[in-house]
Amino acid sequence: MRMILLGPPGAGKGTQAHYLVEKYGMYHLSTGDILREAKEADSELGRQAKAYMDKGELVPDEIVIGLVREKLQDPSVRLVGFLLDGFPRTLAQAKALDELLDELDQELVAVVNLEVQPVTIVERLAKRRVCRECKASFHLEFNPPETEGICDYCGGELYQRSDDQEETILRRLNVYQQQTEPLITYYDQKGLLVNIDGERSVEEVSEAITKQLEELTDKHDCA
Ligand code: ADP
Ligand code: ADP
Ligand code: ZN
Repeated sequence: MRMILLGPPGAGKGTQAHYLVEKYGMYHLSTGDILREAKEADSELGRQAKAYMDKGELVPDEIVIGLVREKLQDPSVRLVGFLLDGFPRTLAQAKALDELLDELDQELVAVVNLEVQPVTIVERLAKRRVCRECKASFHLEFNPPETEGICDYCGGELYQRSDDQEETILRRLNVYQQQTEPLITYYDQKGLLVNIDGERSVEEVSEAITKQLEELTDKHDCA
């Protein structure tokens, strides 16, 4: 399976990625997770990305494209497929991805677009908690961990991301509308877009995605 999860910050991409990876075994590539790790490790990449991330701005295309290129070229990733979460976020990134997939002689199966209203986004992000170890996402009300402050999956410590503050959330939403939303039309024109109503429960959204993907892969198998 080779797919993209598209949607505004807080739409539930990371949450759904968790289920999809369990089901299909593809490689989960979250550019946000990689950049945050680099930031924590204070690596060269992290130092380049930090100021943009803290403000809720996008990290420059060249940096993110280089990072994705390196991962998708990896032989083990080529074998198991991938789920892109948080990439592409600009038209330039989408075009670079097309070129890269051409080079690798691979095709996307689907671009799943999670549709969620701005009010919901603010509600979700303001009370999001993330695992330091496995990066799983929780929500204090909507998707609480079994034990407060501890990850259900790996026992890691949960924390609040520094960019999940109201002001930065609004900035990220604005950046999404300006720079990322045009990708919906881009992928629709390629016939890859699958719209999913992301306002439902985690389980309902997950079932809806799986159902759509199964229909698509059935079609691929018949062709
Ligand atoms: P969210 O899950 O809330 O949408 P991410 O974890 O995907 O946020 O991204 C966090 C931050 O990392 C972004 O605000 C941006 O600064 C940077 N980032 C992540 N992915 C990209 C990308 N594809 N292009 C540019 N910047 C990115
Ligand atoms: P993204 O990766 O798109 O930024 P996340 O998967 O991290 O989004 O989800 C954002 C927040 O919303 C988290 O706190 C998560 O637990 C919560 N969440 C995700 N999906 C749902 C849902 N369907 N209903 C309610 N809350 C959700
Ligand atoms: Zn964890």
